Amino acid sequence: MATQTLQLRPLGNTGLKLSSVGFGASPLGKVFGDVSEQDAFAAVREAFRLGVNFFDTSPYYGGTLSEKVLGKALKALGVPRDQYIVSTKCGRYKEGFDFSAERVTRSIDESLERLQLDYVDMLQCHDIEFGSLDQIVNETLPALLKLKEAGKIRFIGITCLPLGIFTYVLDRVPPGTVDVILSYCHYSINDSTLEDLLPYLKSKGVGVISASPLSMGLLTEAGGPEWHPASSELKAACRAAVDHCKEKGKNISKLALQYSLVNTDISSILVGMKSIKEVEENIAAALELATAGMDEETLSEVTDILKPVKNQTWPSGIQQS
Ligand code: NAD
Repeated sequence: MATQTLQLRPLGNTGLKLSSVGFGASPLGKVFGDVSEQDAFAAVREAFRLGVNFFDTSPYYGGTLSEKVLGKALKALGVPRDQYIVSTKCGRYKEGFDFSAERVTRSIDESLERLQLDYVDMLQCHDIEFGSLDQIVNETLPALLKLKEAGKIRFIGITCLPLGIFTYVLDRVPPGTVDVILSYCHYSINDSTLEDLLPYLKSKGVGVISASPLSMGLLTEAGGPEWHPASSELKAACRAAVDHCKEKGKNISKLALQYSLVNTDISSILVGMKSIKEVEENIAAALELATAGMDEETLSEVTDILKPVKNQTWPSGIQQS
């Protein structure tokens, strides 16, 4: 009998094939609570063993800690560099935002050193709604194109929360400048607004990564972190959905991850993971989806509970004219 493996999906025009479940490494920066280095290494190793080939981090996560821990963990795998795909970011730091050409050019060298790598597969401008979009278009992205030419990065991405920012930038840069977008909290059971943007992104040949299928912890039994920006109404609705699943003996995180994985126009669903247990549960959820499909009954009940807050989001970024 053939062993079941995690699906690989093409990423826009990049030629890369990402595992449908990607490893979000922000928890390795302790943003969701303490994580020992041992647990972090074990989680990365187990994810890779089970078919995850895509790892995402940022200098912002844990003030560079996530990059350092991920770098060590990947090195410890002892496998050829072309067997895993690494994405990091630039422009957002513990100290604040800086999307200047000078800063992002310095940033990649710092990231490569922390990650112990010669290049990253993707460098993404991190949360651009906090920067000047004119600067992103006219200064930051041209600087990243130079880094591409220099071989330090293979592909260029942008990340942000408000979906309209993606179209604003993509409509103002030459085709092929932005290879990939990373959206978060817009393709999970409580908010699926990314779906409307997918045909546009496809027409532009831009690869799509969707992060935070568990709504940054709201769709987990442990709940979201204290800093979670959702309204108390949205948090309470998610808590009610979690409780409902618990009472039924169902796992809301499994349901939520499977919901996000169904749409194959999204190349990878990035889920934050910090332990072998979470990795194994999430990969099992993906494999089970492929063979058994979803628990439609529970999904329908959870959808009903979340209906009053469906597609509710929160403000993010600076006002731009
Ligand atoms: P998420 O929705 O993936 O939730 C992560 C939380 O859920 C963590 O506390 C994790 O420990 C927990 N979890 C994971 N699997 C679980 C399971 N099976 N059972 C119970 N709990 C489980 O949110 P996220 O981590 O913010 O997003 C995923 C990744 O996407 C991040 O790590 C980051 O790499 C990326 N991301 C990027 C941006 C951006 O670029 N602006 C924004 C958000 C996320």
